[in-house]
Order: sequence, then C-alpha cells, then structure tokens
Amino acid sequence: MIDLHFELQRPDFDFQVELSLPASGVTVVLGPSGSGKSTLMRCLAGLERQARGRLVVGSETWQDNPPQRKQPIFLPPWQRAIGYVFQEASLFDHLSVQGNLNFGLKRTRQPAAGLAALSQAIDILGIGHLLKRSVQTLSGGERQRVAIARALATRPQLLLLDEPLAALDESRREELLGWLERLRDEWTLPMVYVTHSLAEATRLATTLVLMSEGKVRRAGPIAEVLQQEGETLLNAQVLSKDPAWHLMTLGFQGGDLVLPDSGLPLGSRTRVRILARDVSLSRGAPQDSSVQNHWPCVVLGWSAGAHPAQVQVLLQLGEQTLQAHITARALDQLQLKPGESVWALVKAVSLVGGSSHPASA
Ligand code: ADP
Ligand code: MG
Repeated sequence: MIDLHFELQRPDFDFQVELSLPASGVTVVLGPSGSGKSTLMRCLAGLERQARGRLVVGSETWQDNPPQRKQPIFLPPWQRAIGYVFQEASLFDHLSVQGNLNFGLKRTRQPAAGLAALSQAIDILGIGHLLKRSVQTLSGGERQRVAIARALATRPQLLLLDEPLAALDESRREELLGWLERLRDEWTLPMVYVTHSLAEATRLATTLVLMSEGKVRRAGPIAEVLQQEGETLLNAQVLSKDPAWHLMTLGFQGGDLVLPDSGLPLGSRTRVRILARDVSLSRGAPQDSSVQNHWPCVVLGWSAGAHPAQVQVLLQLGEQTLQAHITARALDQLQLKPGESVWALVKAVSLVGGSSHPASA
C-alpha cells in the first residue's frame, strides 16, 4: 500500500489530500487544470518542502512531519525510489538513446539489477532498435518511451507520470497509450498517472482519483468511482425566458438547455444536475421527440453497470463529461465506438441551489 496525507497552503489554494493506494496497477489522478494534480505528484517526489503530512510506501516512511511531530522525517527526492516522467521528456540531447538510458543506471545502487530492469524495460517499451540513435531524431512518443525506460532502470518503487501524452499529437497519443497499457500489464510497479482526459483515465486506470480544488472528490476502483459519478453538474446561466410557455433557457459551456422557469432572474448563475439514468442516446438528431434538451456529444467509452443488463456510457459534452445509463442491448444496437458522435437526449434536469424542484422538460 501507499498511504499518503499531505497538506499545503498556498495563497488562494488549499491543498489537502489523503489517500490509500494499492501497491500495484495504475492510479489515475483526474481533474481540471489547477486542481492540484501536479502538486500531489511533487509531494510524492519530495519536491514540496512546505508540505506537511505523511507518506508511507510499502514498509518505508518517506515523510512524517505533521506540525506536532518533534523529529520530522522528510526524505529528499534523491532518497525516494521514484521514477518521474513529465509532459516533455527531459532527455540529454547530446547523448544517444543508450547514453540516456545508461544515465538512469547511474542512479541505482545495484547496477546488475538495474541492468536487468533496463533490458526488460527496453523490451516492454519496444525501443531496442533505437538504442544507437541520437535522441534528437526521435518522435515525441519515442522520446517518452525512452524517458520511461530510463526511469525504470533506477528500479523505482513508484512511477509518476504527469500528463505524459499532453505534448503528443492524437495518433502518437494512441500509440503511447498502447505501450503504457503493456507496461501496466507486464510490470508489477505501482504507477500514478495524472491527466485531465477522461478517455485516458478510462483506458489506463485500475484506481481512479477525482480531484478538484486541491481536494479528492472521489477515489476507488475505477468501475466503482464511475458508477458513483452517475451525475453531472453543469454551471449555467439564465439566458432568456419564454413567458408564453413558462420556460427559461440556460446556457452552459457546451450548449443550451430549456427548463420550467424557476423564477431565477435573467443573467443569474446556477448549477444544473443531470442524472445518468435520465440520459438516453440517439445516433441522429432527434426530430419528433418530446425531449426538449439534446446535445451532440462524443463517446469516450463505457463500463459495466450495477446490473448485467446495464452499461454506463461516458460522453464528452464540451469540456464536461456526461453519463448515460442505457441497456447493454441498446449499446449493441447503436453500434457505438469510442470517438464517435452521438446525441444525448436528456429527459430531466434539476437546478441545484436555486430551486430544488426536479424539472422535466
Ligand atoms: P494541476 O496540475 O492540477 O493543473 P497544480 O498542482 O499545478 O494543478 O496547481 C495547483 C494550484 O497551485 C494552482 O492554483 C496553481 O496556480 C498553484 N501553483 C502551482 N505551482 C505553484 C507555485 N510554484 N507557486 C504558487 N502557486 C502554484
Ligand atoms: Mg499539472
């Protein structure tokens, strides 16, 4: 297990995270930009000297410095058996691939074991044919694979990957994701993987941690977390009113929605909750439907529901995610694939805060 508890105060940012992570598999930390994902990684790596708390990795205590503790423990980064891979691989451009990998070996206390780890990493990441190349000639994805192999050569107890796909184009991302899946399945090493992409999370995660505003909102096995996340909150603003039908239109990032006029003044901000069970899907734009709210979305993926007849489909709606609980048979009939467009039809939405009456529209 990896047990952690960190607290860190910055102006306008209150970071408090407590987690217990399994000692294997990929923990994906998912959250919007600024939610504290990189801060968490830096705490794990020992790069946040101001952070208070505790970090136990397996049988080793790397940090234990709560305010009341007289003799604080805080291992510096170089004493923590961690591999750290960032958005842009920080390779030495004047060295070959092999030269860069050898640099990883220098950090291990047992060179023979490091060499064995390195050759296994070269194999799993498929970079054997690149060893003599100058790193300047590598593609972005190849650079990342070399950076990961170099990190693995140090025989870390924990591998940290902070948005490793962010600097790659779409097809390179897809390719590197395949290599990361292979690493997850063939190397028993806990990894913490930071992203703001739900698509990456659903593909890689065994454990999912949802962060916002410096706090953990939910954490657990990915299927459980997604199931609990069966609702979406949209930040919306009242755009117009239709007195003849007693309706109002709200705008949110990603579309508009219509619902019974709750009396909120024009221009006011509110939040709207949509439950996954109230979302259905259609291949084409609905035309003769009583459902007033429908938006084009992109399918991110799906996972098994609580009942074998059910699946929960994850959708991208603007920058938000939306879930639809539909039957497995409907999913089969619609023949949906990740990345495809689909219409989400929303039967019911409710205002959060303002008026709490669920509004069917
Ligand atoms: P994420 O990786 O989720 O995008 P970060 O952990 O990088 O978020 O940042 C969390 C918050 O801390 C943000 O509000 C950011 O502006 C702030 N922050 C990050 N690094 C520093 C720093 N070195 N000094 C002051 N504030 C910082
Ligand atoms: Mg970050």
